[in-house]
Amino acid sequence: MKLILLGAPGAGKGTQALSLSEKFDIPWMSSGDLFRSHRKENTDLWKQSFGYIEKGLLVPDSITINMVLSWIDENSNKGFLLDGFPRNIYQAESLETHLDNSSGIDKAIYISVPDEILIDRLSSRVVCKVCGIPYTKSDKNKCTVKACTGELYQREDDKPESIKKRLQVFMDETKPLIEYYNFRDKLIQIDGSGTVESVRESLESSILISNK
Ligand SMILES: [Zn+2]
Repeated sequence: MKLILLGAPGAGKGTQALSLSEKFDIPWMSSGDLFRSHRKENTDLWKQSFGYIEKGLLVPDSITINMVLSWIDENSNKGFLLDGFPRNIYQAESLETHLDNSSGIDKAIYISVPDEILIDRLSSRVVCKVCGIPYTKSDKNKCTVKACTGELYQREDDKPESIKKRLQVFMDETKPLIEYYNFRDKLIQIDGSGTVESVRESLESSILISNK
């Protein structure tokens, strides 16, 4: 199963990705984690990226694509779940071409949530300093994932003034992708406004149905 997960900040993508990758036993790649691991290992691709990051420029698609496609080649015997990639049509096309002999990805899943709910969720969100898993403010102050126990804090961009801007950037970036996958009959749209549990259930059942 080769899946892509699309969703605005606050749509619960990280939480759902984790449980989907466990449920269907497929590796999960988050583009943020992938960059961090290249940085940690100081790979050639990281060194190339750093030249751009240092100058405050966007990392060129060619580098990002290279990172992701190498990850796919090394990790995806059983399929994959991509989160944070592709971000534009060019990246999506490169992915489809790379998977050419298997007719591309199976499904792009878009977790759709109305802006009011996203704004509400994001402004009450704290994340683990260590693993990045999100929690709701005042739940607790330490991460409860296995042996993590990282401290929880509110990210600068989860403050109200930054949220609206992020949602706008997300929609500008993602709308063409939604259309792209919809046109290819690969789009599954899930209503992400319910509880974590209910969204998880509808995700799982629509993936199972589409996989038949
Ligand atoms: Zn944690």
